[in-house]
Amino acid sequence: MTFDYDLFVLGAGSGGVRASRVAASLGARVGVIEEKALGGTCVNVGCVPKKLMVMGAHFAEEWQDAAGFGWSVTPPTHAWSTLIANKDREIARLNGVYGRLLEQRGVRVHRGRGVLRGPHEVELRLADGSITQVTAQHILLAVGGRPVRPAFPGAEHVMISDDVFHLPELPRRMLVIGGGYIAVELAGVFAGYGAQVTLLYRGDLFLRGFDHDVRTHLAQELRKKHIDLRFGRDVARLDRQPDGSLRATLDDGSTLDADGALAAIGRTPNTAGLGLEEVGVKLDRRGAIRVDARLRTSVPSIWAVGDVIDRVALTPVALAEGMLVAQQLFGAEPRAVDYDLIPSAVFSNPPIGTVGLSEEEARATVGAVDVFRTTFTPMKHTMTGRDERTLMKIVVDRATDRVLGLHVVGPEAGEIIQGFAVALRCGATKAQLDSTLGIHPTLAEELVTMRERCPDPDHELHVDHVNARPKRIVSEQWGEG
Ligand code: NDP
Repeated sequence: MTFDYDLFVLGAGSGGVRASRVAASLGARVGVIEEKALGGTCVNVGCVPKKLMVMGAHFAEEWQDAAGFGWSVTPPTHAWSTLIANKDREIARLNGVYGRLLEQRGVRVHRGRGVLRGPHEVELRLADGSITQVTAQHILLAVGGRPVRPAFPGAEHVMISDDVFHLPELPRRMLVIGGGYIAVELAGVFAGYGAQVTLLYRGDLFLRGFDHDVRTHLAQELRKKHIDLRFGRDVARLDRQPDGSLRATLDDGSTLDADGALAAIGRTPNTAGLGLEEVGVKLDRRGAIRVDARLRTSVPSIWAVGDVIDRVALTPVALAEGMLVAQQLFGAEPRAVDYDLIPSAVFSNPPIGTVGLSEEEARATVGAVDVFRTTFTPMKHTMTGRDERTLMKIVVDRATDRVLGLHVVGPEAGEIIQGFAVALRCGATKAQLDSTLGIHPTLAEELVTMRERCPDPDHELHVDHVNARPKRIVSEQWGEG
């Protein structure tokens, strides 16, 4: 049987574009369909615009901090519309880059929505209103995910993260609902640009799954920046007031007024209306597509990658998965995706960088661990007087000396952890970190100079989690030689 394409890809986000480009460069005839902008969530309503907005938000503190170095700065003003316009211009440029990259590889890009009609057939509902059908030897589902909308009465008044990137103006008082990556990052963005922010999380401490010290430290730092963190509370209903503002009634009956509300309560795979059930592609309980180790779905000719599958919802993971599918289908040496030791960053203010196991996970996995932890004032703030502390933490397997987890809350945490992630993947031991010379003066040198293990390995992790100052302040950076 001859097919129109060797590979047809649904979705031109991170995973879909990478698979298309690699497959085409290996000689495959590739088609892709995308109903929104090229680049998917990451480029259009995720990592890229978020990071640009985070970068801009930092200036608010930079102006203030400059005074400590002798600068006198007249109170700065901010034009939200300029931020959005410049961000849009950059995103449009990236959309163009993605289009050209596909074109240059000979990938045929269709604009519209694809629906499975068989193991080798895709119906294309094109943007011009026409409908056509194509056949392909292999089909790749890379359709991503979307933000979950809450279900409480008045939920129609909340924004989801997609909306934030097109807000016409910054609300004066923002209510952020949720305690994951997106809630914490966008709370910092709103606060940086001058909004009064309340972050409401249903559990007792946000960022579930991260190291407990990291969570408590970030909570403490955000509170110093006047973000009102309310844990153990949820929204029961939301009402629009006659003056246009919003009133949230919480589950304890108290109320909270705001001018805008964002729900960042997780993301869900985009599996509806794709014809998956009809063709026999199986989903898990969350509605994510089930795949095997090779990323093949329950239908042998259909593959899936990225946020639509039951794995890790991060762009670099989708890129690696897209690459793997293309390589194994079209003759290159496949490089398996290793889901172990995936480094990640939360672009909060200050940011978190983390790789490997939290202390709690490490204890549950190997039993005896040594913990090295320090909190200190970054050098810059010895001049600015800003009350901001950095946390660094290393979790080590006591039996083997292998570093199991490394966590930073502080400036450039993501940049620092990226390099240390290589070391962890190479099986670095604490002795090897210790034998590495530092770069002085940097923040990262602390990670190769921490010698003092936390005296009691069962240190008081769970005492007064949220408000406590760090219990063990091991060093003041550069303060003690
Ligand atoms: P997360 O899954 O990280 O967090 C969801 C949060 O919402 C949790 O705090 C969860 O609480 C809470 N929640 C879930 N359901 C409800 C509900 N019904 N009512 C109230 N609260 C609720 O989701 P995000 O939306 O923040 O991000 C989605 C994913 O996107 C991330 O997991 C990550 O993979 C990716 N991402 C990565 C980024 C990065 O690498 N920097 C940045 C942004 C996103 P609980 O803990 O109690 O379940």
